[in-house]
Amino acid sequence: MAMVRQALRFALQPNCRQRRSLARHAGASRFAYNWGLERERAALEARRAGDSTVPLPSAMSQHREWNSWKKGPDGVPWWPEVSKCVPQEAFRDLERGMRAFWESRAGKRPGPQVHFPRFKKKGRSRDSFRLTGAIHLHRRAVTLPRVGTVHLSEDATRWVARIEGGSVRVTAATLSREADRWFVALAVEAEREIPTSNLASDTIGVDLGVLALATLSNGTIVPGPKALRQGLRRLRRLSRAHSRKRRGSRNRARAARRLARHQARIAAIRRDHLHKLTTQLAKTHGWIVVEDLNVRGLLGNRRLARSLADSGFGEFRRQLAYKSQWYGSHLVVADRWFPSSKTCSRCATVKLELQLSERRYHCSNCGLDMDRDLNAAINLAGWAHPAVTASAAETLTACGADRKTGPRPAGGCESGTGIAPEPTGSIGGPQTPDAFVTV
Ligand SMILES: [Zn+2]
Repeated sequence: MAMVRQALRFALQPNCRQRRSLARHAGASRFAYNWGLERERAALEARRAGDSTVPLPSAMSQHREWNSWKKGPDGVPWWPEVSKCVPQEAFRDLERGMRAFWESRAGKRPGPQVHFPRFKKKGRSRDSFRLTGAIHLHRRAVTLPRVGTVHLSEDATRWVARIEGGSVRVTAATLSREADRWFVALAVEAEREIPTSNLASDTIGVDLGVLALATLSNGTIVPGPKALRQGLRRLRRLSRAHSRKRRGSRNRARAARRLARHQARIAAIRRDHLHKLTTQLAKTHGWIVVEDLNVRGLLGNRRLARSLADSGFGEFRRQLAYKSQWYGSHLVVADRWFPSSKTCSRCATVKLELQLSERRYHCSNCGLDMDRDLNAAINLAGWAHPAVTASAAETLTACGADRKTGPRPAGGCESGTGIAPEPTGSIGGPQTPDAFVTV
């Protein structure tokens, strides 16, 4: 048994009083965050001016200072109405944001450059706050400090039983608003049986697509949810309707509410769909290989960007990372320079150029003709297990005429052993062994 962190998310049905309280807490959280950021900036300014004795505030020192400031002459009269954890958690968020910024600047943090924390604006930043302390989940309600007992839209009986049994512990609650609905995400520590291996020892390559949601190296195509495509059509219509209404009019406000509600619904469908896919992948495959897409680079192209953002690549990776641990599989991220789309999965010839519009991969060397995404998925699987590439291309090739005569990639032939794949650097393998990442 191991302890894993997990979030349980429920939609809330607050009454009018609770709705006001939630809004007040979100406002307080934003206010405290900005208050702390202002002091952070003042301290940095003083140090830049040459006074190196000025300490940079920490979440703890900010909280101490806040507690004496809030009651003083410049303080805020509303402080007794909000839970004292809210500013405390806002200062912690700020501290994390500052740390991420410094680490990123020093080159100690992977991923895109992290910008300096910005002030939160009402209406522009997301309404949310975090509570700690006495949080109780009931069958159809949740009790939160200060806010009270709020009805849930769903039944939480299953979790209540586990909390009472002691195998799940609630540590915090994050409240957030999407359009006109409030949600609670309970951070929990749960006991979970983590298998060392899920018995599956195969390797599957996953190519996240533009047209299909994902193409797997075994030939399975996971289509994007139809509800999402239809939803996007309605989204365009609602958004046009909104922009046609006169600014400041009551009609425009109503159109804006309708639009926001619909956006929240689409996000929910997408999340749900991704969860199903990642759970299924992590449960049934030993090794899952995905591409290290430089998402930001791709987002330059607007139409592609929409589809990619819609298929939620970042979220897909995040879910796979923890679910592969839960279900005893392994997530492998291919080197970002590995040309999975341009390489022939049978003879390993690399094309110099491949247009995005070319939906089929045609190899001029060995004659392979295959769906472009499937070819990429097979290459990804082969990136971890070189032998997979050869066998998968053999069985899945549409035209089987030159099956036996086509040149085979050289390299280890140990597919399906469940042993950590050795980056051999052979065809289809990583260029540098240290680029091999297991998350
Ligand atoms: Zn070829």
